Amino acid sequence: MGKVIQKSEIDKWLNLEKHISGKKLINGKKLIFNFSKENALQLKLSSNEVDFTFEYKITLNTLAGCKISMHHQENKHYTPIVRIDYNGRHRNPPYKDNVPMYFKEFSDMWINESHIHIYVEGHGSNWAIPLSKSDFLIKSIDNTNINSNFASAVQAFNEYINLKNEIELIRDPTVYFDELD
Ligand SMILES: [Zn+2]
Repeated sequence: MGKVIQKSEIDKWLNLEKHISGKKLINGKKLIFNFSKENALQLKLSSNEVDFTFEYKITLNTLAGCKISMHHQENKHYTPIVRIDYNGRHRNPPYKDNVPMYFKEFSDMWINESHIHIYVEGHGSNWAIPLSKSDFLIKSIDNTNINSNFASAVQAFNEYINLKNEIELIRDPTVYFDELD
């Protein structure tokens, strides 16, 4: 295990203003990315306030249901700050005293729905709660709403991590995902 980073430090880094680093942007501001050609958008982000970068990654899995992951990590100690998994499943560990109370009802169980991993001191990204119980705005993405909700979810994620650039996504609106079992 690496160094244990304080939750307050992670929260500070989550809220820092960030910008896309090392990419050609429209008017110096906007990134256009075509999800019809590739299934992952991976970026390095920077902030004026710190001397390390942040990782930003969105993946779209067209083979196993409508699986979408949105991941944000700091690259000083490589600690995951937040990750949202649409249509994935996750098992939380048994409850421990230093874990925030809002995780307790979801401890030692599978979460069989879209969920958000939130950093817990000493536990990295091992803990998640259902997106439906979180304050994240876009609760679901499926074949009935993907053409609007995917872009909205990415935008909500960018706001959540305080990314100041606009990202415009191109997706073939006729391509859907295999249904989940
Ligand atoms: Zn997960």
